[in-house]
Amino acid sequence: MNIETFVLGDFEVNCYVVWDGNLGVVFDPGDHPDLIIEFLKEKNVSPIYVVNTHAHFDHILGNNLLVSSTGAKLVINEFDSEMLTDAFYNLSAYMSKPFYSVKPSLVLKDGDRLNFLNEEIVCIHTPGHTPGSSCFYFTDKKIVFTGDTLFKFSYGRTDLIGGNEIQMYNSLKKLYYTLDDNDLCFPGHGESFKFGEIKLWLKESLGI
Ligand SMILES: [Zn+2]
Repeated sequence: MNIETFVLGDFEVNCYVVWDGNLGVVFDPGDHPDLIIEFLKEKNVSPIYVVNTHAHFDHILGNNLLVSSTGAKLVINEFDSEMLTDAFYNLSAYMSKPFYSVKPSLVLKDGDRLNFLNEEIVCIHTPGHTPGSSCFYFTDKKIVFTGDTLFKFSYGRTDLIGGNEIQMYNSLKKLYYTLDDNDLCFPGHGESFKFGEIKLWLKESLGI
């Protein structure tokens, strides 16, 4: 399985293209969907899914063009679904660039799985940054896309609309008990890391 990282837009969101053979998944097309589409063409990859780890505008700006030009299914957790089409809730209106995403084709609950080739991608609902923030876990490949929930030695802010500090605490705790040391984490911003590298820091931050 291959992973390419694009750092997109003013907020430097990590957009990830994951693919194997001719099929792929795009996580968080933040901006410049033209670059992603060009890359997919170059590699001859059709994305089956466009997955949003949450619906803040900086992670979804490329949704519409990507979905309309590739036919991929847009996927998001149930609790961020409405945020996609609400320019205030997804915060784009505050940037004087209101953005309305297309609606999702698949809305996931905690523990739901997406099939990708022979892989299962599990939706781990991790609210706190937003109500529907989720991590997407390739359990066989030991790879997890953590969105704006978990970064390397940091976690997502909880002071935006729909943010919740207690939920964030519980979500980080859930990740602590779910992920393995060797799991490779790909966050919504900043560099990737092995979960084991930050485990002690997380334990101390959580006071557990
Ligand atoms: Zn965010």
